[in-house]
Amino acid sequence: MSQQGYVAAPPYSQAQPRMGGYQGGFGPGPAQPYGHYGGSPQAFNAPPTGMMKPPVSSAAGMPPPPVSSHYNPNVQQNGAHPQRYPAPPTGSAAYGQPPQSAYNSMASQAPPPGQQLANQMSAMNLNNYAQGPMQSPPPTPNSVAQQPFQMAPPPAMGQPQTPPGPQSPQMPPQMSQPQSPLTNMPIAGPQIGGPPMAGAQMGGPPMAGAQIGGPPMAGAQIGGPPMAGAQMGGPPMAGMGRPFPGPPPPGAGGFQQPGPGAAGPLGYPQQAGPFGGMAGPQPGMPGGFPGAPAQLAGPPQKKLDPDSIPSTTQVIEDDQAKQGGQVFNTNIRGQVPPLVTTDFTVQDQGNASPRFMRCTSYSLPCTIDLAKQCQVPLATIIKPFASLPKNETPLYVVNHGETGPIRCNRCKAYMCPSMQFIDGGRRYQCGFCNCVNEVPVFYFQHLDHMGRRVDFYERPELSLGSYEFVATLDYCKNNKPPNPPAYIFMIDVSYNNIKSGLVKLICDELKTLLDKLPSEEGAESSAIKVGFVTYNKVLHFYNVKSALAQPQMMVVSDTAEMFVPLLDGFLVNYQDSKAVIYNLLDQIPDMFAETNESETVFVPVIQAGVEAFKAAECSGKLFIFHSSMPTAEAPGKLKNRDDKKLVNTEKEKTLFQPQKGVYEQLSKDCVAQGCCVDLFLFPSQYVDLTTMADVPSHTGGSVYKYNNFQVETDGEHFLRDLRKDVQKSIGFDAIMRVRTSTGFRATDFFGAIHMNNTTDIEMAAVDCDKAVTVEFKHDDTLSEETGAHIQCALLYTTISGQRRLRIHNLSLNCTSQLSELYKSCETDSLINFFAKSAYRAILNQPLKNVKEILVNQTAHMLACYRKNCASPSAASQLILPDAMKVFPVYMNSLMKTAPLVGSTELSTDDRAHQRLSVMAMGVEESQLLLYPRLIPLHNIDVNSEALPAPVRCSEERLADSGMFLLENGHSMFLWLGQASPPDHIQGIFNLPSLAHLQGHMCALPELDNPLSNKVRSIISGLLEKRPNSMKLQIVRQKDKPEMLFRQFLVEDKGLHGGASYMDFLCYVHREIRQLLT
Ligand SMILES: [Zn+2]
Repeated sequence: MSQQGYVAAPPYSQAQPRMGGYQGGFGPGPAQPYGHYGGSPQAFNAPPTGMMKPPVSSAAGMPPPPVSSHYNPNVQQNGAHPQRYPAPPTGSAAYGQPPQSAYNSMASQAPPPGQQLANQMSAMNLNNYAQGPMQSPPPTPNSVAQQPFQMAPPPAMGQPQTPPGPQSPQMPPQMSQPQSPLTNMPIAGPQIGGPPMAGAQMGGPPMAGAQIGGPPMAGAQIGGPPMAGAQMGGPPMAGMGRPFPGPPPPGAGGFQQPGPGAAGPLGYPQQAGPFGGMAGPQPGMPGGFPGAPAQLAGPPQKKLDPDSIPSTTQVIEDDQAKQGGQVFNTNIRGQVPPLVTTDFTVQDQGNASPRFMRCTSYSLPCTIDLAKQCQVPLATIIKPFASLPKNETPLYVVNHGETGPIRCNRCKAYMCPSMQFIDGGRRYQCGFCNCVNEVPVFYFQHLDHMGRRVDFYERPELSLGSYEFVATLDYCKNNKPPNPPAYIFMIDVSYNNIKSGLVKLICDELKTLLDKLPSEEGAESSAIKVGFVTYNKVLHFYNVKSALAQPQMMVVSDTAEMFVPLLDGFLVNYQDSKAVIYNLLDQIPDMFAETNESETVFVPVIQAGVEAFKAAECSGKLFIFHSSMPTAEAPGKLKNRDDKKLVNTEKEKTLFQPQKGVYEQLSKDCVAQGCCVDLFLFPSQYVDLTTMADVPSHTGGSVYKYNNFQVETDGEHFLRDLRKDVQKSIGFDAIMRVRTSTGFRATDFFGAIHMNNTTDIEMAAVDCDKAVTVEFKHDDTLSEETGAHIQCALLYTTISGQRRLRIHNLSLNCTSQLSELYKSCETDSLINFFAKSAYRAILNQPLKNVKEILVNQTAHMLACYRKNCASPSAASQLILPDAMKVFPVYMNSLMKTAPLVGSTELSTDDRAHQRLSVMAMGVEESQLLLYPRLIPLHNIDVNSEALPAPVRCSEERLADSGMFLLENGHSMFLWLGQASPPDHIQGIFNLPSLAHLQGHMCALPELDNPLSNKVRSIISGLLEKRPNSMKLQIVRQKDKPEMLFRQFLVEDKGLHGGASYMDFLCYVHREIRQLLT
């Protein structure tokens, strides 16, 4: 409840002498071969303007030079747009043009395009809700409720209508809801759903909706005093429990039709009046809303045209058509990038690529009040190691020599495009804390007539959004350069894994896979060392020193005090020891072939890995292949605590809370050593994944899960995951700081991370698929002129053992216009933030509360837009910000995900697994997870390169004679309509008809015909593209397994509860109308 986190403005301080844990040191930096940007200034003698000298030296192994346009001064660069950057405080007349914020003029002009829908749809659909939640007992009025709603009844009767204009007065600052949607219990909110009004005033016949029969913008009709107010007098919620009568009108235009439903709020005047109460969550109101399937299982939807509600696939297609194939230059502050689904090329011109950083909004509200008023979360999702397509330039490495990277003396921000050089180039003002710093002598350079350093285009740290610095010894543990990291493969050789053939599968695969360990660009072979452990109740370590003829095994049976019995020969270079390792991998399956041991340990296995890294003074990753709950007598022993009775109770949260004690300590030990844990689980029953995955999910690791693993059906699926995982680009022993310019700061962090304090994000490792979501709060007022700057600095060890700093910078606009803020929102980022914050919230709150908060905040954000930004129109019209028009479908989908659905039919481990994987997801993955691709294959053009356009995820889009591929990044289905044409079945399966199809097929036969080739190439293309492998499941229409497939049709009612998109939209619309009254 407290707004402390938000309002309180602790002294702005980001200064920290060193990145946590790394004390200042002695000695010069190691002579690094990455000096082509470093060194003395005279090395950069290019003329201030004109042709650019390629900024690359002859150092081998360095990223290629940028394409020339990259540095072509004629191309618009960030520096070429002084008006978008803060004018320097002193001197530098060249920058003197006042920062005429271009965005100011854009703001507040034409009303933003909105998605306008007439209201009767909601009225009609409310019927369905009314069956359940609406009839639930009226909520108890909350004494804390805000005034406006307590005096609600027919509050506005007879008052003239005052449609909210774009510039309507700000809400009084009595919001009870802090910015963060989920950190608080929803008790402070106003009581909106007041029972007494129900029905009474609504009793009249449904008013002819004629008044809103006009086009969407025809708000005029309700401009007058509430006509027929009698019928309408109640607040919108008055309809609770009362199904709106009457069938929908014959539709002539989807939602823009008048209809009986319009009756409800139609004449109800909108007041610009007290608005402040709308912030809080309303406890009773959503009542049973999202959860209960039964309540929502009303009569089938009245036939509304589903095409008329905002479509995700359409939004994706439109953006692809508009921006696909184009170059996105990052030179403009606050520019909203193309959607994650769009295929575009990024050219770094001063801001980090959206592949590295994406924001919920690219225009931050200037004031705390404005931020609270709209409740749009302010967050950035950072994927520091994101893979770049081949046509984009890899990051440059800058070496500032033995002094290390240049940093602001006060806030320690790194040299970047936000630093303003003044005083003829002798000093620079920090864009983050405004401190004026001296330019070190070796770094001095003259300014050109624009006030820009003449070496601007030659120094990535001045002209680019992303780059790396070579870190000096000060940034290394114990001031020693790190050793190359190591990978230890730890294989559970208990009965289940031997019997299933898994152990043999792993050993066979490693022989070829280890040849492909990632290596530094230009290096001959990988510097990563490898080691091997097998275990059940005891651990077996292997000496695979190259000099040995045979590997040697050492057994540690005392698992209480784990130690590593050998140092020399345990972690080796794969190429050197290849013969011994081959020998070992051949022997392992045979050695344990006769095992009867079914008990395993788990914590000691990880401890062994940490000890091995400690002894070798390196960081690295453990690959653990494990099958069952660790029940053997040892630290971290677990017992079955799964309890379906807890589902939908206050105690459900305990299912998501890991066991503490030894696991908690183990995470800390791992992070301290830079030991990342990847867990491959092969369970046949409950394993307490919540606890077993605790260490991976705090060390930048991944958890893979293969239920009831069988080599024949799951082997390839698992191996694809393993191959991707081993070969991923990755950094180790990482620590990340997010610095911001004054006025706001990072307050909350989500990811597979560990935090010892409130600012340092520690990750034992971070790979190309891991993202950290960072939430920001205001400390103070932000300036439209200077904008807001974010700098993410990641200190890490490369795969070859170099210490580096990876810097990502992003500048955002600041605005006092809500319309500007809404225009700059990014739905995919917003939903990433909401997913993570909801998934964290369920650790402490009942699901019901969490979902209520999600619904309320959705309604609130949209109502605030409607009130302040949309042009006046009938309250009955649903008007959504253009940038957020499909936000509701994602939000509804989120609430139907396994972690947020309280259903006893779902496995606790599966729910926990999804919860943890989402916590580390980037925007692209969360988007796909919450809105799967449903690709029609039946009318595919076998000659076309293009993927067929996906259709909306709804049963209505399926056809009996159709064939569809569905994928969400984790699951993949090939759905076959029962009337599939025989030639399709023949072409793809080589079978005469669908009836001949055997169950459990998990790959398509390789047939040489155009259809088969095309379908298989689509599937393999998708598998290639996604971070995780997916197991192909083939389902026939009306077969039982079809249920599995249907749960991914996210626009339909949830299989385990949860509303259809249409119902949800109607529900949200009603909430909005209520907030607007
Ligand atoms: Zn500073």
